[in-house]
Amino acid sequence: MSQLPNLTQAEPIPAAAKAEVTRILETGDLFRYTNDQSPVALLEAEFAAKLGSTYALAVSSCSAALFLSLKALGLPRDARVLIPAFTFAAVPSSVVHADCVPVLCECGDNYRIDLDDFAAKLPSVEAVIISHMRGHTSDMDAIMTLCDAAGIPVIEDAAHSLGTTWGDRNIGTIGKIGCFSFQSYKMLNAGEGGIMITDDAELVAKAIIMSGAYEHNWRKHPVLHAPFATWQNKLPLYNLRLNTLSAALIRPQLDALDQRVTDGRRNHDHVANQLDAHPNLSVPAELSPENRAPDSIQFNLVDLTDAQIADFQSATLQAGLNVQIFGRSTDNARAFWNWHFLGDTPELPKTRAMLTNACDVRLPARLTLAECDAVAQVLLSAATQATQQKAA
Ligand SMILES: *Cc1c(COP(=O)(O)O)cnc(C)c1O
Repeated sequence: MSQLPNLTQAEPIPAAAKAEVTRILETGDLFRYTNDQSPVALLEAEFAAKLGSTYALAVSSCSAALFLSLKALGLPRDARVLIPAFTFAAVPSSVVHADCVPVLCECGDNYRIDLDDFAAKLPSVEAVIISHMRGHTSDMDAIMTLCDAAGIPVIEDAAHSLGTTWGDRNIGTIGKIGCFSFQSYKMLNAGEGGIMITDDAELVAKAIIMSGAYEHNWRKHPVLHAPFATWQNKLPLYNLRLNTLSAALIRPQLDALDQRVTDGRRNHDHVANQLDAHPNLSVPAELSPENRAPDSIQFNLVDLTDAQIADFQSATLQAGLNVQIFGRSTDNARAFWNWHFLGDTPELPKTRAMLTNACDVRLPARLTLAECDAVAQVLLSAATQATQQKAA
């Protein structure tokens, strides 16, 4: 059997990116607004074209993109923003950062938004952020129908969904704004970085100014210039720009995206089919319009006691595999009850039940099928071992 691969390693940096970084370092030209043809501006044009969006703004992180999106929407102080309760702590944090109030929506055991809870809470909010957590797409048809009818803007947190499609649409282009991450554990690895896309000239102009296009630096963005005249000197400058080195790291990886998506989906489905055949492991199916771009796998533990789950975890650990169960590790940033910065978090029994049984294992696109088999084997034997120990 193949050895367990190193699952914590990020996507490799292509040779073309290393060469471009060296070239830029020799010029010392690290600030995006020194030149008209900055690698950051080129990245924005290429990313928008790839996703089929009119405008893109590259920034320092996906969290910064979410924050700027809320600010660009012009929401009043204390506006309520509906977000899924299954997301990363940076998402409610971006809402707090924008002086708004996060409202948590229940998620089901398929990791997606519970539409009954969503519909019930929608009338009390002024904006919605949909986190496609771990690349699992919530029902965007139902969500857009509800939000369009209520006139509520939708921001897609597509941080972990680059390359996912919903019907004939790219994820991130369905809501008013889509936000992506270039943090190391996402599909394109720049260490840190983010980008927002939209078709709305007014929104992107406001976000560009607030991201730090001070004075007339907005002229270096190929966007309709009329909205800038409206907003000149009227918005704060938060300085959340991306530097040229990060853009240089990302651009050649954008060319590799389609291959990474194909390989990641192959790896995911290969492991998912094996896990799903075990009576105590269940991989929720994707929704029918969805074509995923996974770089990790999530599955639920079924019919296991707390003691058996502990046995499962220690068996995987002993075999050298670190399986995260979102709701069972201390201070997990994806467990809503740890978001004490929100004050009292509500009780959300569906999301809590899901989080205490949902396992998370990285499955990078670069793995071979033999390496995927090694990962699957550890998980299957650990599940069998955990149930047998109980019977003995
Ligand atoms: C990674 C991630 C973020 C945060 O992205 P950063 O670029 O690190 O700010 C937000 N939401 C989701 C769903 C993520 O996976």
